[in-house]
This record gives sequence, C-alpha cells and structure tokens, in this order.
Amino acid sequence: MKFENLQSTFTMHNGVTIPCIALGTFKMTSEVAEQAVLDGIEVGYRHIDTAAAYQNEDGVGRAIKKSGLKREEIFVTSKLPNAMHGYNNTLRAFNESLEKLELDYLDLYLIHWPVIEEHKDRYQEDIIETWQAFEKLYKEGKTRSIGVSNFMIEHLDIIIKNTEIIPMINQIQFNPQVIEEDLRAHCKKHNIVVEGWGPLVQGQAFDHEILNEMAKKYNRTVAQICIRFALQHEVLPLPKTTHKDRMIENANVFDFEITDEDRKEIEKLKVLGRLGKEPNIPRAGQPGGSNPQNK
Ligand code: NDP
Repeated sequence: MKFENLQSTFTMHNGVTIPCIALGTFKMTSEVAEQAVLDGIEVGYRHIDTAAAYQNEDGVGRAIKKSGLKREEIFVTSKLPNAMHGYNNTLRAFNESLEKLELDYLDLYLIHWPVIEEHKDRYQEDIIETWQAFEKLYKEGKTRSIGVSNFMIEHLDIIIKNTEIIPMINQIQFNPQVIEEDLRAHCKKHNIVVEGWGPLVQGQAFDHEILNEMAKKYNRTVAQICIRFALQHEVLPLPKTTHKDRMIENANVFDFEITDEDRKEIEKLKVLGRLGKEPNIPRAGQPGGSNPQNK
C-alpha cells in the first residue's frame, strides 16, 4: 500500500475511500477541538475522529463550517455512546451526533465498545440489534460507512454470522505495545480496514528507549516512528494533538520506510501490553462513560 500524503486513502469494502491518517480528538473540550480541527484542516488533515462520548462534536462541527471546505472534502467519524446501544437508541443517538456536528450525513459511524455492563448477559443480541440500526442508517445514506471499535474476533463474528453487512472498519488500540496480529488477520480476511487508536501509546511511546533509538537511527521523531509503524502494518493511525507544529510533524511520515528487521525490534515492546481494559470487559453505559472529563 503506497501513501504519499494526508489525502492518500485506504479503500473500504464498499468502495468508499478514507484518508490514511486521522486527527484524533479524545480529551479535547469543544473549544479546544474547534481550534485543533481548524489547525488540522489547515495543515492538510481531511479525516477527523470524534465520538459522542468526547462531548466535543459541536466544536468539531463549528471548525468544519468555519474551514470553508466543501462537505465532501472532509471525512468525519463519530461513535455511538455506550449508554445508547439497542435499535431505537442507536437511531436517536445518531441524530443527536449529526445535530451537534451540524452535518447532513456522517462518513463513518462506529459502535464505540462491544460489551456494555447493563446488557452483558445478552450482549450477542445487543450487538445484533445495535448493528441492525447501523445497517438502516447506512442503507438510508445517513452515513457513508459503518463500523465498530474495540471489537475482538468473537464480537466481529457475531455481526458477520448474524447480520447482512460486514463492518467496513474496526477501530482498535494499535501501537508498538499492542500489535493484535490475529485480530488484524481476521479483519483482513473479511476486508475490514483497521484503524489504530492510541498510536503514540497516549504519550508513553516517548519514554521507550527502543523507539528513541529508532528515531535517532532514521533521523525522525518517536511520534513519526510510531505513525509510520502503523501505516506499514496497514493500520490507519489516529494521532491526537492540540499543537499545530505536532500535527505537521505527525503527518511528515511519507518519505521513509522502517525495515522489517527494525519493525521486529519495535514489536518486542508488545510485552508491555495494552492501555486500559480488554474489550471483552463490559463498560458501564453512562453517558460520556469513556470521557475522562466525566469521571
Ligand atoms: P495518542 O496515542 O494519539 O497520544 C496522544 C498524546 O500524545 C497526547 O498527550 C498528545 O499531546 C501527545 N502527542 C501527539 N503528538 C505528539 C508529538 N508529535 N510529540 C509529542 N507528543 C505528542 O492517544 P489517543 O488516546 O488520543 O488516541 C488517538 C485518538 O484515537 C483519540 O484522540 C481518539 O480520536 C481515538 N481513540 C479511540 C478510542 C476508542 O475506544 N475507539 C480510545 C482512545 C482514543 P498534545 O495534544 O499535548 O500534543
């Protein structure tokens, strides 16, 4: 896969293209997100990742409006809040996200987390019902693609075996500590594009000696090594930063290649493991449940 700049794309199984690096917006307030998205668009980002749980969709929407870009020039992802699983709730939550973003349609809508505490005894039915609402939204043209987030193989298979449309995306934690070989192979088999959240290990990447050594070797920064690492695994990274100079830095990853040997060295960090819970641990479904501002 050859990527040349921020407008290069992955292609989902329905033929819709998706820009190869997104600007993440987790932990940004609306005001911060508004400025960050405006800066990101100026730098060249055309893919913004938000979620109802981040409580900043209104700021993201204001930035898109102010940017003067045509709607079709920007790819916008949002996610279903954990409290809103289920068929009717999903349709309601989707409309709320659209209203906050002040958009007529989304480019991608994701189930944020597979198993919700309140529905854990019937989580398979819960995932199916929720996904059927996603299929309706997709068929009605309200979102150009639909997908899931933090789904493990067992969760993906519930959708694949019991519903009509295979998710176009699985957004999972991916970084040098969390490689997810089996899950990525399963996604590839079903033509599901993998997006990587926490590509910089939420800032912890900067402390790892091996990544600092690689940065020196390639005359790059640790952030660039991590983002390139994702792209070379065919994972679409979503680095988050509020700093314009870092947005530029994080996008400057298209003119070097990490060798297979160095990639294997970096992968030794997988012994450190993931940030947070395994996705099969149920999450409470309170509104904003995954937003640290609400904890
Ligand atoms: P990241 O791995 O993107 O790390 C973000 C941290 O790295 C911030 O502290 C940021 O600080 C810092 N940073 C960014 N670029 C640089 C740089 N070049 N040099 C030094 N520091 C840098 O973590 P996230 O958790 O934010 O993940 C990325 C995105 O993925 C989220 O924003 C969100 O959109 C999505 N996500 C999805 C989840 C899900 O469950 N589906 C869960 C978590 C995240 P600063 O802003 O100050 O620059």
